[in-house]
Order: sequence, then structure tokens, then C-alpha cells
Amino acid sequence: MKVILVSQRHGSTRSFTLGGWTRALVSVCLLGLPAGVGVMAGLEWAKGEGADLFNAEAAGAWRDDLSDQREKIELTRQQAEQQLAAITLRVAELQARLVRLDALGERLTSIAKLDSGEFDFSQPPALGGPESAALGDAYQAPEFVDVIDQLTAQIANREQQLEILETLLAKRKLENDVFLAGRPVSKGWMSSRFGRRTDPFTGRVAWHSGVDFAGKMGSDIISVAAGVVTWASQRQGYGYLVEINHGNGFSTRYAHNSELKVKVGDIVKKGQVIALMGTSGRSTGPHVHFEVYKHGRAVDPAAYIHRAAR
Ligand SMILES: [Zn+2]
Repeated sequence: MKVILVSQRHGSTRSFTLGGWTRALVSVCLLGLPAGVGVMAGLEWAKGEGADLFNAEAAGAWRDDLSDQREKIELTRQQAEQQLAAITLRVAELQARLVRLDALGERLTSIAKLDSGEFDFSQPPALGGPESAALGDAYQAPEFVDVIDQLTAQIANREQQLEILETLLAKRKLENDVFLAGRPVSKGWMSSRFGRRTDPFTGRVAWHSGVDFAGKMGSDIISVAAGVVTWASQRQGYGYLVEINHGNGFSTRYAHNSELKVKVGDIVKKGQVIALMGTSGRSTGPHVHFEVYKHGRAVDPAAYIHRAAR
């Protein structure tokens, strides 16, 4: 390294060559200068703004800040605990409700006489599907969240089961309505049975294709099941007749009425008044001649009259 020095006063120059350790020394001095300036500046800053760090008063304020924060953390922790307790209570309530729902479901299943295997309210629903590739290391939710997830799934399943059950029960009720049972009169007594009997007009043994209920003139004649009116007018021998088709191959006839309350095509409910008692047609006094047809053949109505409505 060659160093040239210029004198201001004499304008003369002097040059000399540095070598070895002298050169290293000069390099250190030149590089050390900015570092030294940096250190000095840092110390100056410390004396100014940073000075608080080192006096007792500031330390006290700091401790206050810390205890303040500790209090806030404690408060937050307490609030979190209270919220957790509230949620735990809520979950317990949901579990209790689910137990009641299960009990209701089991009772309904037993009332509806459904296969016990079809609706099992004590077991989780059967689920399946092909295994899918795991999406890496999934986030592990806390146990508590698992419980809520399980509860939600259980409740959704029970809702679905109860909905299906309701549909089934509604269908069963409809079937009950078309189920033939009971008497065609609310007041009256059976005056003649089904089968062989002495004909009241000829005095000869004849076949009686229905049963007779005697009662007061004009008393209510009621349908023994829901159905559609297929006849509502006079008919030879029957007088004023109502015939109702109940579906499933069943139909009923109500004869000798004084007045008809329905017309062909009417949909009637079980127990609905369809006519008033009379003595029209081949009749000796106020009564209803009641016939039950099963697939077009007159059968003994007694079996249907005496069976209990489901
Ligand atoms: Zn009769």
C-alpha cells in the first residue's frame, strides 16, 4: 500500500509505502470508526429515551403494569370458566332432552308395533361409505367439541327417525279409518241376524244377507268406516239405500232409510251420518238393514260390528 501525504502550507508531497502489520493497523482504525460512532450514538439514546429503563421510579410503574395485566388475565380466565360452566350445563340439558326423545321414540315404536330393529333409539345410526384419504394431520379439536358434535349428530338422527315414524303413524291412522268396525247406528238394537231366517213377509225360510238394527224413526245411520258413496237412491227391495266403497275389497250397504244425507261420489268419514232411519222398501218397521261385502260377496257383519276399532 502506497500512502501519499500532501502538505497545505508547502504544497509539497511526501509518499511512503506501508506494508505488513502497519497496513492491518490502518485498516482496523478506518473500519473501527463507524462502529465506534454507532456505539456512541447508542449510549446517547440510552441517556435520553431509554433512561427510564434504569431508574427505580420507572421499575415501579412497570410492576404496576404487570399486575394490571395479571388481573386482566385472571378476569378473562374467570369469564372463560363461567362460560364453560354455562356451556356444560347447556350440553347436559341437551343430553337430557335427547334421552327423553329416545324414550318417546321407543314408546311410539312400541305403540306402532313396528319391528324393533327398524327404529333403534338406543343405538347410533348405521353409517358407512368408502374410506377417504386423510387430509394430512387434521386439527385435533378438544374433547368438549367432540361431545357437542356427537350430540348434534344424534339429535339430527333422532329428528329423522321421528319424522319417518310420524309418517308411518299417519298412514296407520288412515288405514284405521277405513277399518270396518262398530255399528251403523248410535242408538238401536240388533233385531235380526245374518243367515237363515224365516222371511217376515212370506213366512218361509230365507237367507238374510245382512243384519237388522231396529230403532226410532229418523235416528242417525252412520258409516262404519271411511269411504266413497257408490249408491244413494232407491233400489228394489232396499228402499232408500246408501252403498259405500271402503277400498281393499270392502263395501257396506245401509237400507230402508227415510232420508239420505249423502250423494254418489261423496267421501265419507268413519262415524259420519249418511242417512236417517226409516222403513222404505221391503220393511215391516223402522230399522236399518246393514250388509257387508267382501270382494263382492255378502259376509256376516257381526264379526265387524263386534271388533274393536283399532
Ligand atoms: Zn235385513
